[in-house]
Amino acid sequence: MFIPIPDNISPILKEIGTISYSKGHRAYLVGGPARDLILKRKLKDIDIMVEGNAIGVAEEYARHHNMRVKVHPEFLTAKVKGRKFIIDFASARKETYPTPGSLPIVEPGNFEEDMRRRDFTINAMAISITPDNFGKLIDIVEGLNDLNKGILRVMHEKSFQDDPTRILRGIRFSARFGFTFEDKTLVYLRRDIDYLKVVSRERILRELEFISKEGIEGIRVLTKHHIHSVLNLCTVEDKILNKIIEFSEKTGINPEKSLLASLLMCTDDFPLTSHMRKNINLIKSLGTFDIIKVARIDEDYLPLVYAYIENSEEVVKFFTVRERISPEISGGEMKKLGISPGPEMGKILEEIMVLRWQGRIKTKDDEIKFIKGRLNA
Ligand code: ATP
Repeated sequence: MFIPIPDNISPILKEIGTISYSKGHRAYLVGGPARDLILKRKLKDIDIMVEGNAIGVAEEYARHHNMRVKVHPEFLTAKVKGRKFIIDFASARKETYPTPGSLPIVEPGNFEEDMRRRDFTINAMAISITPDNFGKLIDIVEGLNDLNKGILRVMHEKSFQDDPTRILRGIRFSARFGFTFEDKTLVYLRRDIDYLKVVSRERILRELEFISKEGIEGIRVLTKHHIHSVLNLCTVEDKILNKIIEFSEKTGINPEKSLLASLLMCTDDFPLTSHMRKNINLIKSLGTFDIIKVARIDEDYLPLVYAYIENSEEVVKFFTVRERISPEISGGEMKKLGISPGPEMGKILEEIMVLRWQGRIKTKDDEIKFIKGRLNA
């Protein structure tokens, strides 16, 4: 079976295939991009597997186009940043996992080993890009069948033990494509779910970020498979999820940060950025709407504020007037009026913000009058 290759990537793949062929190697478009082409979805990036030295192919392609290539000899990979796509080149490899959850030992391997090291059959297909059979699908694991049936199937019984993050990858694909785990895969998932506890919190957090990008469905599928209780994440009720989405749709704010924070609000286990920690702490400290606290919360997290507090209509109002409530007067101008920088200045700025929120201050002149009045009081 031949897969139609869209015009925007066909010349790129043909050229890479020809370079490989001239060096005596076969090359393929593999993994997610092969899956997405079959599904007729837009490609985010290009993953090339070369049966041979992928780094040499990447270097030659980059030389032709005057592009920079980043090489990782220890992983047998190279990355080329094109104008429209990032192209990842990898030599066919096999991977072994010394202990559950550890990073794999990578060794050169053949085509079949490279397909069998992968997470799910739908991600273990290859589309040939060498000139003699450009576009031909090579599917040794019946991935196409699973893709058509909407099934996520692991390659072997110990897959989730080798790399428990595959459970979270499965959640991501299930949410994105509406696929379900194949019966035996589901049995392995339930049996091996506790292996997630041995994975570093950094890696888990990265996967949770990806799951949050899938929207509300990502969190729903995660909860359906009880991952939240294994990882001590919050149980996020549907009511909260729906409100996050409702606010995002009203305002155009991407919900992903709020969805992620909704999972992480009740745990200190994860290495969050100080930025995210600050926002989560502010939200947790909110009972009802508090303009001073809400003004300190980044816009990305407003959907979560809206979902959590009782008088949520205030958050909608805040979103529409937020630019008008920042004080116009500068620190320098306040100094000239006799206020020294420090806690007092901060307090006055907050008071101005509250008065702007209440509509009692509208202009910079009003602010100056207020400050003078306050100094004379
Ligand atoms: P997305 O569409 O979300 O970018 P993807 O399928 O392209 O997902 P990547 O993380 O970019 O996934 O990985 C590319 C390919 O590498 C996957 O399709 C899969 O074949 C393989 N892969 C990635 N991570 C793993 C893993 N943890 N275990 C086994 N195979 C993996």
